[in-house]
Amino acid sequence: MAQLSDDCFAFSGPLLRLEDMERMIGERVMAVDDTERVPLHGARGRVAAADVKAPVDLPPFDNSAVDGYAVRHADLHADGDTRLAVTGRLMAGAASGLKLGSGQAIRIFTGAAMPQGADTVFMQEDVTVDGADVVVPRGLKRGANRRLAGEDVPAGQVVLPAGTILEAQHVALAAALGLTGIEVRRRLNVAIFSTGDEVVEPGGARGGAAIYDSNRFLLVELLERLGTGVTDLGILPDEPDALARALGKAAATHDLVLTSGGVSTGEADHVRSAVERIGSLVFWRVAIKPGRPVAMGVIRGGNAHMAAFVGLPGNPVAVFVTFVRVVKPLLRRLAGARPQTLVALPVRSAFAYKKKKDRREYVRVALRRADDGEIEAVKHPQDGAGILTSLTETDGLLEFPEDVTSIEPGARIGFLSYAQLTG
Ligand code: AMP
Ligand code: MG
Repeated sequence: MAQLSDDCFAFSGPLLRLEDMERMIGERVMAVDDTERVPLHGARGRVAAADVKAPVDLPPFDNSAVDGYAVRHADLHADGDTRLAVTGRLMAGAASGLKLGSGQAIRIFTGAAMPQGADTVFMQEDVTVDGADVVVPRGLKRGANRRLAGEDVPAGQVVLPAGTILEAQHVALAAALGLTGIEVRRRLNVAIFSTGDEVVEPGGARGGAAIYDSNRFLLVELLERLGTGVTDLGILPDEPDALARALGKAAATHDLVLTSGGVSTGEADHVRSAVERIGSLVFWRVAIKPGRPVAMGVIRGGNAHMAAFVGLPGNPVAVFVTFVRVVKPLLRRLAGARPQTLVALPVRSAFAYKKKKDRREYVRVALRRADDGEIEAVKHPQDGAGILTSLTETDGLLEFPEDVTSIEPGARIGFLSYAQLTG
């Protein structure tokens, strides 16, 4: 595959800042280039492969925004009521053909095409009907309650730029423009493994020294939310040959091979050496906490196919944070999606905090309404990288910028919700 080279993840600095990491991904990783056309149902979550332009105006014709009376603004008295003769009736969907003469009004309903000559619509609540006439008050602006053809989208405008991840509203817009399908990039395929002799399948036999696997379940759900295909390849032992064999095989048929555990420097940490045998590997000492160094690399899968490789740490919270801040930008790039602009909305911190300079830190917090009515963020009492309940009992992460070293309670810090981070 052309989107990766042997050294695309090479990085020689001591600590890689998040923004530099995202820039490197943008410069060195190419999107998969296969595309397919999908029908609107089934397009949500896919990535637009090319700019989609509006083939027609939206709305397609001038129409009424309310139920009421269409009039000519030039007929209205500036200083008092105006009496107009009601000469016709237009329901939504009716072919118009009606023409409005001077001194006339036409009864009109929401969505009906504006009759020729009319430029303004009175709401029915604002007028008085008197036999065959309608009496309208002064003061309405020209063009009120009228929707112009193309005011939402003029024909020819790009409505879905290439790289848009299609959400419900994008699909609705495509439908409103009469499109029946959208050209999208092919779906990514990601293979995941857990590693560790102590890790067993939930529900399986567990001796005194084993733990149930949670990382694979975390990763399957996170990947599915991002719309990738996922192959769950189970748990690998801490054994270099078995690791190299399984990872190499997975690389042949996947865009990314993702593991957790076994990437630090312990004697049982063999993922690094296994990957070095079948591809190349670098360490990204990404300047974030939690998240120890993340192993990044490529694995040759045969047939000149290169799969990306990411080895995440073993502790579940570190898996979560490195997934959303490192793996997600990589996947978006591979998928052909535009980088996400994560907007951290400032909330008031209920706690004091100290941190190292030059590192971005993410603190698990719950939001609550303080006595003065403001939203404030409360830190989870346990901040170990293995404490899964610190993720289930909180609402998101406070993002402490690199240059901050300490804050007092009351400081305003950007908050990222889990929904934002995982979507
Ligand atoms: P490691 O980096 O392999 O030393 O793992 C770090 C910590 O994460 C250890 O306490 C492991 O038991 C734990 N861990 C590793 N893999 C998993 C997993 N799949 N599910 C839950 N915990 C894990
Ligand atoms: Mg391990």
